[in-house]
Amino acid sequence: MIYLDNAASTQIHGEVLDAMLPYLKEQFGNPSSIHRYGRLGQKAIGKARKEVAKLINAEPSEILFTSGGTESNNTALRGIGKKNPNSRIITSLIEHDAILEPCKNLEKDGFDVVYLPVDKFGLVDPATLENNLNENTSLVSIMFGNNEVGTIEPISEIAKICRKRNIIFHTDAVQAVGKIPIDVKELGIDLLSMSSHKINGPKGVGALYVKNGISIDPIILGGGQEKGLRSGTENVANIVGFGKACEIARLNLVNNISKMTELRNHLSNKILKEISSVTLNGDPDKRLPNNVHLTFLGVNGEDLLIKLDENGVAASTGSACSVHIQKASHVLQAMGFSHEQITGSLRLTVGISNTIEEMDETVKILKTVVEELRAVSPFKEKYSF
Ligand SMILES: *Cc1c(COP(=O)(O)O)cnc(C)c1O
Repeated sequence: MIYLDNAASTQIHGEVLDAMLPYLKEQFGNPSSIHRYGRLGQKAIGKARKEVAKLINAEPSEILFTSGGTESNNTALRGIGKKNPNSRIITSLIEHDAILEPCKNLEKDGFDVVYLPVDKFGLVDPATLENNLNENTSLVSIMFGNNEVGTIEPISEIAKICRKRNIIFHTDAVQAVGKIPIDVKELGIDLLSMSSHKINGPKGVGALYVKNGISIDPIILGGGQEKGLRSGTENVANIVGFGKACEIARLNLVNNISKMTELRNHLSNKILKEISSVTLNGDPDKRLPNNVHLTFLGVNGEDLLIKLDENGVAASTGSACSVHIQKASHVLQAMGFSHEQITGSLRLTVGISNTIEEMDETVKILKTVVEELRAVSPFKEKYSF
């Protein structure tokens, strides 16, 4: 099997698993306990916090552990929202559902949520953002890198606009962390969401970076863990694994970027060269190094996925979370794609363990499968593939 769905989840790194195991076996204590078990648990969490912070150039005290990207996003939106009832929140039409759904919920509770449009590459225009800020705006939340088409948003510019007006800026950086260099200090970010399982760590753990001086209200109340901002006994093994995944990602960042970029370009160029009537979606330059998103005219993406799976390639049409509900991608809709273009789309996301041979094999399989599907396509007459 060739795994090309690394934007949905990644394989846990061997060293990450090794680092976690002691905390699932002999080192099982509650980190809040006074005894040795507790102390060792606390120490392990502290070490992980330092590693997570280092990856984005934050301070350890600015890292709040959560159960993943979804909880981090909810904590940021609600956490700021609770402090600013009925205020305006600005986001974009192409955010992950883990932003859009909490935003819809905030609207029900009286918040004025503005969903910014994007251009055909999926880019938010900072000037449009600026025009939508008003006296009542408490928070701007724009994603760092899009999970479907891979477009990287103008985060530095957006952060500057927010800073000038004293408005808090959050970014869902789940897809960007570990894939491109991120320095929260240099970029001027106030809140940033990250998730472990997108960077070769375990599932069910993530973090919210909360800049020192920014105050949020907790959404989960209880025993007061994580400075009272996220109650519940810490998932020590997962946190340790996440810390290790961040350390590995930081130490290998430059190498991984060049490796993923090479694989991505090889795959993308070869597909565009060898298969007709294919377009590359998303911004060609401002793009995550692991993302290839394509439209094959006259092909149904779901059929394509099934055929690819049968032939040993694991891919996706876009966001893993929308597959269950079979709705047309809101991201491609916002980019102005036609129904046909949306239907024919495919996302291939490479990871650190993929090889050039796998890219060649994928193109070979894709070519055959696309030909098969096009031979029976209802659009056969309309297009000359
Ligand atoms: C995967 C993802 C999430 C959700 O993260 P989980 O840890 O799976 O909850 C949020 N935002 C983006 C952009 C993602 O890709």
